[in-house]
Amino acid sequence: MTRKQGKQSSIIFNNKVLVLAICLLSFLQACSVKESSAKKEQPNIVWIFSDDHSYQTIGAYGGRLQELNPTPNIDKMAAEGMRFDKCYVENSICAPSRAALLTGKMSHKNGKFTNTKRHPFNHDQQQFQKILRHNGYETAMIGKIHLDGNMQGFDYWEVLPGQGKYYNPEFITEQGRTSYKGEYVSDVITDRALNWLNNNRTKDKPFLLMVHHKAPHRNWDPAERYMDMYEDVTIPEPHNLFDEYKTKGEAANKQKLDIATSMNLVRDLKAEGKAYANDPRYKSRREWLAKNKPEGKELVKWKYQTYMKDYLRCIYSVDESVGKIMEALKEQGLDKNTIVMYSSDQGFYMGEHGWFDKRMMYEESFRTPLIVKWPGTVKPGSVNNDLVQNIDFAETFLDIAGLPIPKDMQGKSIVPLLEGNTPDDWRTSLYYHYYEYPGAHSVRKHEGVANKNYKLIRFYGKDVPNGEEWEFFDLKNDPAEMVNLYQKAEMKDQIAEMKKELDRLRKHYEVTDQ
Ligand code: CA
Repeated sequence: MTRKQGKQSSIIFNNKVLVLAICLLSFLQACSVKESSAKKEQPNIVWIFSDDHSYQTIGAYGGRLQELNPTPNIDKMAAEGMRFDKCYVENSICAPSRAALLTGKMSHKNGKFTNTKRHPFNHDQQQFQKILRHNGYETAMIGKIHLDGNMQGFDYWEVLPGQGKYYNPEFITEQGRTSYKGEYVSDVITDRALNWLNNNRTKDKPFLLMVHHKAPHRNWDPAERYMDMYEDVTIPEPHNLFDEYKTKGEAANKQKLDIATSMNLVRDLKAEGKAYANDPRYKSRREWLAKNKPEGKELVKWKYQTYMKDYLRCIYSVDESVGKIMEALKEQGLDKNTIVMYSSDQGFYMGEHGWFDKRMMYEESFRTPLIVKWPGTVKPGSVNNDLVQNIDFAETFLDIAGLPIPKDMQGKSIVPLLEGNTPDDWRTSLYYHYYEYPGAHSVRKHEGVANKNYKLIRFYGKDVPNGEEWEFFDLKNDPAEMVNLYQKAEMKDQIAEMKKELDRLRKHYEVTDQ
């Protein structure tokens, strides 16, 4: 090579280096632009949650209690966000529902079949908050989780032990236990959440804040300041308060969910027994009961009124919490880039079929409230009627953060629904499975399938006649599920179709028999 050639090749080489350097620089710039815009777009998530909050007691859902205005702040959220009218759970009971919410998997996949210690929750498994945290989100959980053992995937957690207490509650953190003397549980959860939001979080990261309330779980102990609320009101009764389950099987006839005999006057209603004998808060109801001695239907009606009032009083503190958190987000300038979601771990019977509690696949406990406020994405005041399930939440949170959804999660992100675009292949049926029998409230094991028109339920196992009993409901013509049509010849084809669908869903979700 001559000197000239050498010089030329050196220029060419230098040019190549220059071109390469420019390419690399623009690539890095592109990356950093992409990264910073992605970071900017990652919204914060505040998930306010309650235990056993029925959609029937949320004003925004309408219904017979709407006029009582039980939830002004949650209603405001619905007016500014999207209300989901067909959100359901896969197993209507506290701890299993929470396991499904964290994992995006049904009970047979996440291992939490029942509330009991027979099925401990494996905290080591994949959970959405671990993935969010691993990808730059700061994560906090405050309140009731109802899963034994230390939480994982949270930068900060402060939870009630087990069910927790309404008054003078204790909380567990990684450092130990703290007791809040003289305080009410919903207020402590709200205050601790606000403290984290305002003072404790790292302010340069997107965050997930889970504010999970204990209320209105049984035994419905309200905050002192709301003890007299609704005192002079008569709560409207459901039309089926005295359902006799004439066309239904053993499960509906032999449960212990009923207000008449399973709701007790001592601890549930504080109207008898020593524990509250000298408690001035319950004086008037005790005196009324002792004086009037109602029996039969009159006693059921009185229990219903008392139960509903205590329940609604508990709800009011949860609703207040929603208001305070919304206000704090606004004050911090976070309201525009924060998704706020309100939901519960399942629904609850508010006297429908004569019941309280949950567990059954009939509408009121199978369904759960879901309201999402997402400024700039969700159309204010919109209503969604697609079939959504609690196994969708984990996927939705990951999708909101722009993260891929693990293949083994079983639900679907509802982000397209929030954007107002229901995908063509969105689910048209739901699978349900309840396992806790023998157990509290004596609800037989059952599984089932529901679409927007029909519901098929198979009760099975111990204490079910011949080991298997079926029920079938026409939801369009009988939304209260009063008449079991399983034996009706004219429903033969529809029942066969639903059985086929049940088989398909069992295969799809890889259900294993218990
Ligand atoms: Ca619950």
